Amino acid sequence: MEYRDSADISGASVNQAGGASRGSSGGRLAVGGGGAIIVMILALIFGIDPSGLLGGSTGSGDTQAVNPVTSCTRGSDIQVNRECRWNAYLSSIGQYWSGAVPKVYRATSMTVFTNQINTGCGAATSSVGPFYCPVDQIIYIDTAYTGTLLAQLGAKGGDAAEAYIVAHEFGHHIQNLLGTMAKAQSSSQTGAGSASVRLELQADCYAGVWFRHSTDDPNGAIKAVTQDDLNRIIDAAISVGDDKIQKAQTGSVNQESWTHGSSAQRKNWTSIGFKSGDYTKCDTFSATNLG
Ligand SMILES: [Zn+2]
Repeated sequence: MEYRDSADISGASVNQAGGASRGSSGGRLAVGGGGAIIVMILALIFGIDPSGLLGGSTGSGDTQAVNPVTSCTRGSDIQVNRECRWNAYLSSIGQYWSGAVPKVYRATSMTVFTNQINTGCGAATSSVGPFYCPVDQIIYIDTAYTGTLLAQLGAKGGDAAEAYIVAHEFGHHIQNLLGTMAKAQSSSQTGAGSASVRLELQADCYAGVWFRHSTDDPNGAIKAVTQDDLNRIIDAAISVGDDKIQKAQTGSVNQESWTHGSSAQRKNWTSIGFKSGDYTKCDTFSATNLG
């Protein structure tokens, strides 16, 4: 993935949270046993609303300053400060969606954190993985975790895979704006064809659509993408399939507890988004065969 040096990325609202004090009991996942925790952590990858699983407290005693990143204004800043790549992703993805759904579009922001953070959906630890909180409409990313996560799951790293994660979470923001999320969340079922899985696969599809259009704007943050970048995205989608994670963690696959979809489904819908470049083709809720 190649960035455009001259691109204006100053409009992307990225915040850096730092200086978290020692972790308190707030924010711990409410599940017991090391193995169970790992499963929950992985199941939450790319999750949408962890409020039911996070500690409800806001972590009393923890103070964490959240400051807007103002030092990333041009694509060329990424060469000086790699953290500016988050601004580039958010800028490019926001640019696409503001044009695709102009009537309902509202910008979202992203908070990059380490360790622990208080959100509108409760206190989150970095072990939750990246997520979108519909309450405060912010995308939360733990940088260290996101990097090691994809490596652990066997996906090749790289900026494209990272951007895919942000685009997936941004997809949840679009679902929130379009009202899709509220409809899907009225049903709490899990399983291969559940509303939860359909919502997640649609977010994958939305990420694919953005990637297709990522280089459209001659002044945009992303200058060029390669087949290798697409391969990395597909690789990431496959790596976070419920079946693959279950198999790795428990040795067996239980479709009934799926929340995000299988590797094949995630690959399928990411590909549908990329190939069509049309978000209206991401109608996972009408599909009889999810792939
Ligand atoms: Zn998700």
